[in-house]
Amino acid sequence: MAVHIVQTADPVETEALGAELAAGLSAGDVVLVHGELGAGKTTFVRGAARALGVSGPITSPTFSIGHRYPGTGVTVSHLDLYRLEGLRGEDPELLEDYLGAGRIAFVEWPEIGTGELPDARLRVTLAHAGADRRRIEVRELTATVPAPSAADRAPR
Ligand code: ADP
Ligand code: MG
Repeated sequence: MAVHIVQTADPVETEALGAELAAGLSAGDVVLVHGELGAGKTTFVRGAARALGVSGPITSPTFSIGHRYPGTGVTVSHLDLYRLEGLRGEDPELLEDYLGAGRIAFVEWPEIGTGELPDARLRVTLAHAGADRRRIEVRELTATVPAPSAADRAPR
């Protein structure tokens, strides 16, 4: 599946990348956003959420695991699992409110929710690359065009 690697020079470029990727998302999609503190995960999500029609401030969830914002024809969920030790043992409904039909969800620190999160559409990994530069890897986790099966390719 496709992997794209880009570098951004400032937060504006990272927001723009978020906006660009958001254009290819549909309701029900989940985007995993990896990277250490300060890598630009929330900045990336902010750009994506803006492009999906969210107005007003888009800030890191602090007192809950996530925020939900009304967008254009879709609810944008922004989850940050940093403070959870792991979702096992948590009420499953905790996540349900943020995922599924009519929602596009962005999840920071998704490794903490491994096994509890639904299949994601994209995995975005941000890393510091000197000063304000960031290396951003975008991995498509679900093929938009199904690969032909071996049987389809077999010569007749
Ligand atoms: P995270 O959610 O990964 O902890 P934030 O997006 O909250 O990170 O913060 C990233 C910080 O780094 C912000 O202060 C932002 O302005 C700054 N920054 C500098 N250069 C970039 C860049 N190229 N992309 C994203 N953020 C950047
Ligand atoms: Mg953050």
